[in-house]
Amino acid sequence: MSAPTTVADGVVVAIHYTLKNDAGETLDSSSGGDALEYLHGAGNIVPGLETALAGKKLGEKFHVVVAPEDGYGARDERGIQRVPKNSFPPGLDLQPGMAFFADGPDGEPVQVWVSAVEGERVVIDLNHPLAGVTLYFDVEIHALRAASAEELAHGHPHGPDGHGGHGHHGHEHHH
Ligand code: ZN
Repeated sequence: MSAPTTVADGVVVAIHYTLKNDAGETLDSSSGGDALEYLHGAGNIVPGLETALAGKKLGEKFHVVVAPEDGYGARDERGIQRVPKNSFPPGLDLQPGMAFFADGPDGEPVQVWVSAVEGERVVIDLNHPLAGVTLYFDVEIHALRAASAEELAHGHPHGPDGHGGHGHHGHEHHH
């Protein structure tokens, strides 16, 4: 089977990217590190970026602007809550930006972010830190390969060692 040359469903895509906000500040970048690998068509990345990547060729470089609704969603101020510090495990060094999983209304794990620590109260936010933010991506298609049957079944790429993608993204609960 020849290697894919175009981004399409079922292809593991490695991209180098730089993400900036409205103000031109760099929020995230793969430069100087490993390319980001994702499985195309599996919702591993924000929808606006995945849509823009479809049909792109190996080596292609492009710029894409992703509106919040195609990115991390609009901000919902009802997502901000204050909870007592003692509802977190003792000894935890709570810092703004830390993410936790909490039980959602239907028992599903939902991710929450610490946005501030105010004495004995912790301000948590159910909004992704990039909710409401327009995303400006510069992207380069670094590598393409066909996904393995196992990767397709899991809905995400595995690392070069076969299972390197497991653990640090906390997706064991899918298995
Ligand atoms: Zn897996």
